[in-house]
Amino acid sequence: MENHPARIRQLDASVVNKIAAGEIIIAPVNALKEMMENSIDAGSTNIDILIKDGGLKILQITDNGSGIDKKDLPILCERFTTSKLSAYEDLNSLKTYGFRGEALASISHIARVTVTTKTKDDPCAWKVSYADGKMIGEPKPTAGKDGTAILVEDLFFNVQSRLRALRSPSDEYAKVLDCVGRYAIHSKNVGFSCKKFGDSQYSLNVGVDSTTQERIRTVFGGNVASNILEFNTHKLEEYGLEAAIGQVSNLNFNNKKHIPPIFFINNRLVTCDPLRRSLNQIYSLYLPKGNKSFIYLGLMIRPDLVDVNVHPTKREVRFLHETEITEYISTKLQDTLSDIDTSRSFQTTS
Ligand code: ADP
Ligand code: MG
Repeated sequence: MENHPARIRQLDASVVNKIAAGEIIIAPVNALKEMMENSIDAGSTNIDILIKDGGLKILQITDNGSGIDKKDLPILCERFTTSKLSAYEDLNSLKTYGFRGEALASISHIARVTVTTKTKDDPCAWKVSYADGKMIGEPKPTAGKDGTAILVEDLFFNVQSRLRALRSPSDEYAKVLDCVGRYAIHSKNVGFSCKKFGDSQYSLNVGVDSTTQERIRTVFGGNVASNILEFNTHKLEEYGLEAAIGQVSNLNFNNKKHIPPIFFINNRLVTCDPLRRSLNQIYSLYLPKGNKSFIYLGLMIRPDLVDVNVHPTKREVRFLHETEITEYISTKLQDTLSDIDTSRSFQTTS
């Protein structure tokens, strides 16, 4: 039998875009995270989220940020259109979450997107829908407040395999809520609410003026919030660590439930496994077996030492001197815990 090579052909743009979208938006939570970050990038101080069927039917996010210039609406959902980056070198001094101009484009290829937006100079808001990166018709004037509302409907309607692979709407909702909670804890000066469609009560509601501790209480409950202590390190100039600031559980925290640590590096929510392992190891020296810790830590690292462009969903970043920085923070945690451990044993013996 003859074995001819298959011919190589250029893929259709629509196929390319759908493949790319699938890498960035794996589940509703990925779309939500991108949109929340856009809202924060736009200077919002309030972000309201509405979810139906775990975000598969409706995912709506309303913010009070800068709004979008009407003139930019035609290219809003095109791939690689952004207001945040112009030269590759800008990545070294990035102050925004976004930089690739891919999120809204991706979403528009796998869902129906409707944007309502108003800048403070606009006399009215503008509303327009998108499909496959393109605007459908012209923006229509409508009533609305300053800011942007993005409605995503029928996510994955044209990616049946993805729809089948997803778990139940309630699992997807739990992931969404967890993600909103983590951003709500870290994003000081921003209020967040999240609600299921049809519910009268919020699942989560954090006021703009809430302290970090209040935010943690709202998201994780009183047991966590009343057993945390402030944790921060000094600058570690030679390795580019500006600061590590957060809240970690004390030794009275009696909790058997695993709460994945909340790490933000340069304000990006990341997993950071080496740091997680190292800090949990320290906790295991002090906590009774089976007890779990709570860790929320925001690291600020010199931006030119961090590579944010290593993961499609940006859940990982690389940074230089990871070993040294991890060790430094772990030692500091050990000192903190050993201090309270000593004072605790003094208290019990006296
Ligand atoms: P990126 O965030 O990487 O720039 P996106 O596709 O997420 O790419 O967004 C494209 C552009 O749309 C952004 O650069 C921004 O100018 C604008 N935009 C998106 N969401 C909002 C929002 N909520 N408020 C204001 N502008 C927004
Ligand atoms: Mg973005």
